[in-house]
Amino acid sequence: MVKLYTILVRKPLNYEQLLKEQKKMITMFHTKPEEFKIETIIELSKDEFEDFKNNLSVDYEFIEDAEGIFLVKEKGTDNNSGLIVDAQGFPYARYVGIPMQECEIKKCPHCSRCFIEPPALSRKDNKLEICSECGQKEALKLLFEHQKTQGFKKFLEEAQKNANLYNAKIIISVPGSKDIVVESNK
Ligand SMILES: [Zn+2]
Repeated sequence: MVKLYTILVRKPLNYEQLLKEQKKMITMFHTKPEEFKIETIIELSKDEFEDFKNNLSVDYEFIEDAEGIFLVKEKGTDNNSGLIVDAQGFPYARYVGIPMQECEIKKCPHCSRCFIEPPALSRKDNKLEICSECGQKEALKLLFEHQKTQGFKKFLEEAQKNANLYNAKIIISVPGSKDIVVESNK
């Protein structure tokens, strides 16, 4: 018995389309891969497997003879390079999935979205892996904060210059906060 993870796609025409659909289900519909315990492994020759990958919607004898959910792969390769098939009694690959490592799919700790694209590192600690969408939002937010503080710093520098120039005490009132007092430091 082998344990594999995948998202089954209904009636894909070929491998390319299957891959595209699977990615879409993860990134757009936030589908999480399911765990499958596979008992039957069907091994094909290199050419047979290539042919199967390119023509998933046609009838195959080996599918007609198989029962349950099974794995089809090229002889001598590892299980992850095969395809998980749930024919549901049909002679063709009605539901197919490309096996995924569980770790390929990450769940964003910010928005709970499942994603497979390379993660963005949270700028807050440079460790937390978040989705690229949240990464962008975070970067933008930090940029604004930075601008705000930089802008305010400039403003205070100007105030200090004026305080020194006029030997004055400048009181800046900040809404919702304590007044800021800038005195000549000369
Ligand atoms: Zn996110």
